[in-house]
Amino acid sequence: AGIFSEWVFGILAFTGFFSLAMFFSNQRIRSRLIGISRESDELKQLNMRLQSEVEQRKQAQESLAYAEQTLEQSSKLAALGQMSAAVAHELNQPLAAMKTYMAGANMLMERHRTEEAKTAFSRLDGLIDRMTTITKQLKSYAGKGADALEPVDVKQALSSAFSLVAQDYRSHSISYKEVFDSGDVLVLADRVRLEQVFINLLRNARDAVQGVAFPQVTVVIESYSTVHIKFQDNGHGIDDFENLFEPFYTTKRPGDGIGLGLAISSGIIADFNGRLIAQNLSHGGAEFDVQLPYSPKS
Ligand code: ADP
Repeated sequence: AGIFSEWVFGILAFTGFFSLAMFFSNQRIRSRLIGISRESDELKQLNMRLQSEVEQRKQAQESLAYAEQTLEQSSKLAALGQMSAAVAHELNQPLAAMKTYMAGANMLMERHRTEEAKTAFSRLDGLIDRMTTITKQLKSYAGKGADALEPVDVKQALSSAFSLVAQDYRSHSISYKEVFDSGDVLVLADRVRLEQVFINLLRNARDAVQGVAFPQVTVVIESYSTVHIKFQDNGHGIDDFENLFEPFYTTKRPGDGIGLGLAISSGIIADFNGRLIAQNLSHGGAEFDVQLPYSPKS
């Protein structure tokens, strides 16, 4: 019986000890579980906070993009308005003159004064040319960019550009000179657009030397790692460097200039990875320096 009671006691003690151990370990697990669930709650909250922050950022970014777009659109609209006004003005003026000449020519025809009528018609022709020049300039402004660049012979481009203004230079008694060393000078460009720049600069030089006693225009070509094509004149010089390359900046009378030539030209030269720099010469007159990277023969 002694042994039996010892057994019973042993078993009871063991069970008691075991239950106690289980109780404490359960307690530990429970408290750890509570801790974990608290942690996960905190994590959830943190997550939510982060999410709302991300959301806020996204909204801020969207409203920024929207503001930028609106700004871009409104400045585009402003430019469009300015452009429309200038174009309308430039085209309205010859249109009004054409109407007058037409009425005059009609009247002259009715009275059989054909010679005078012919003069009126040739004036009409001149006005149509002017309008064509304006629309051509505008088109070249719109269509810039996509051409592939290829080596262009600068001297050839200059001579074909000059051939288009040569008559005009002669009739204004402008002495014209080209100064360069022998040998080919090549630049990476689009030939037609490079010639367009040269024509613009030659025409501007012609306008600048109006009224000068011995009008002179010289083009100097210098070829280093950068090619310089310098259009020099002995005209009135540049007054306003700040606005010189701005679209629609012109000091010419309405009908003589629309102020797109230099804006277009500097855009074209920038497309060819070059620069167009203007300065006044120390002995009077202006110089426009077309700078383009030299292209080795391919
Ligand atoms: P536009 O010839 O239609 O006026 P441009 O953009 O070609 O337009 O020229 C803008 C202005 O820059 C001219 O009106 C003139 O005042 C000035 N300019 C251009 N070339 C010369 C030059 N060679 N000498 C002095 N001023 C010039």
